Parts: sequence; structure tokens; C-alpha cells
Amino acid sequence: MTNSLHPLADLQRIYTMLHSHFGPLHGPAARRPWWPIFSEHAQLEIIVGAVLVQQTRWETVEAAIERLHGAGFLQVAALASADPDQLAALIRPAAFHTQKAPGLIAIARHIQRQYAGSVAALLNRPTQELRTELLALPRIGRETCDVIMLYAGGHAIFVIDEYTRRLFERVAPEEHRWRAPYDVLRTAIEQVLQTAPQAAALAALYAEYHAQINEACVRYCLSKPRCDGPPARRIYSRQQGRENYLDRDEGCPLRAICATYQATRSSR
Ligand code: SF4
Repeated sequence: MTNSLHPLADLQRIYTMLHSHFGPLHGPAARRPWWPIFSEHAQLEIIVGAVLVQQTRWETVEAAIERLHGAGFLQVAALASADPDQLAALIRPAAFHTQKAPGLIAIARHIQRQYAGSVAALLNRPTQELRTELLALPRIGRETCDVIMLYAGGHAIFVIDEYTRRLFERVAPEEHRWRAPYDVLRTAIEQVLQTAPQAAALAALYAEYHAQINEACVRYCLSKPRCDGPPARRIYSRQQGRENYLDRDEGCPLRAICATYQATRSSR
């Protein structure tokens, strides 16, 4: 029998079910940080990764990050003075690499010029002012902006990506707001989660929730869902320990409340 879900209001319940299945993915309790960091310049590395991952698989991004790190470009001054062609060659085959390269240089120059090269000084700005400033920079749209603010800056902003929309839409298709404009959905979700028990640590909750959603979509809720498992065995990071979940084989943890799954079962 379907354990019916009240759209939006049950976001906390979805989170609990995912977290119970995957365990902590991000933050101090996680065995490995969900966002793998390879350099000593984590905040800049996250900004670079957030730009590179647009329309690009993480495996490609991570290889590019390693090349940039090896070439010394994960530092603001070096990135700001980089040659666009050399940078484009290093981040290739990331999608739009010839546009992302000058975009990254422009972002680094902005940090160099406005904050004396301090990424932390930029990210420490008040949330709304920072969001406006980031959105004015090249190659930074809403999703990229919010990823940077949440994971590099620790701001309590809920990231909306295609995984988020897909997962929630499948679990509760009657809720029409999953396809709402970016900020409409983001605000609606934040309003629900702000009343959650973890409200005191909202940024940590949002970061963990986004990681949980991505893990669910990478393992189970693919374009062609694997509701009953086994989970997809994609290894999307070279970082050791990221294969922790490959042995899980209980199926998607959201089956009990997922309307799409229940409808599929009843039609068999
Ligand atoms: S039960 Fe299937 S359709 Fe529903 S969220 Fe899980 S993988 Fe996606």
C-alpha cells in the first residue's frame, strides 16, 4: 500500500529515509567528504569545480581539477594571469571549455581586484549581497552560484539541480512546483526546511541533503530508474573510499513513499 506523501511538507521525511540508507555523506561525520578536495585551496577549488561541472560529468571535472592543480592554477593569482588557451587545454574535454577558461580567469581577476586575492573575503560577504555579486560574474548561473555559496562559503542556500527536480518529481508528481522557476522552488523548499529540527545548522543540513539527493540519483533514480536495485556501480570520483555504497543492494530507500514506484508496481 502506498504510504502517501504530502508534497514539500515531507521533505524532512525524505531526507531521513535517504540519510538512513546512505549514512552521512558530507561534513565531519562522513567517511569521505562528498565534495573531494585535492589542493590546499578548497574554496577556490570548489568555485572552479562548480563552473567546470556545468553540462559535464564529475569524473571529467575531477581530472581537470587535478591537471589545474598540477599546473599551479588553483591559486587566485596564478588563475587570474593564466593564458586562456592554456587553461582551455587543461580543462578539456569539459563542456564549453573555451568559454569556461576565460570565465574562470575573469572570476579570479574579480577576486584579485576586489578582495586582494582572498576567496574567503569574497565568500564572507552577507548572503544576499554575495549572491548578487556572484550572479554578475561570467559562467555563474543560479545553480552554480548556490553550489559555491553552500559548499565553499557555508551559506544556507538550498541548491536546485536537475537531480533535485527529478527525484522529488518522481516521489511526489502531484506537486506542481518541482518544475517551478529556480528561485520559486528554492524558496519553497527552504521555507519548509527552516522549520525542521536541524534549523540551527541549516547550511549543514542543506549541504548534506543535496549530497543525499545526488547519491540517490546516481545510484537509483537514474534516467531509467533502478528502484529495486542493484545500485549503479558508477565510480564518480578517484578519491579513495567513494566506492563505499557499491555493495548496498536493498533498492531505493524511497520506494515506500514514491508515487512513481507505487504506480509502476500497481500497473504490473
Ligand atoms: S523508487 Fe524509483 S522512481 Fe522513486 S525515487 Fe526511488 S529510484 Fe526514483
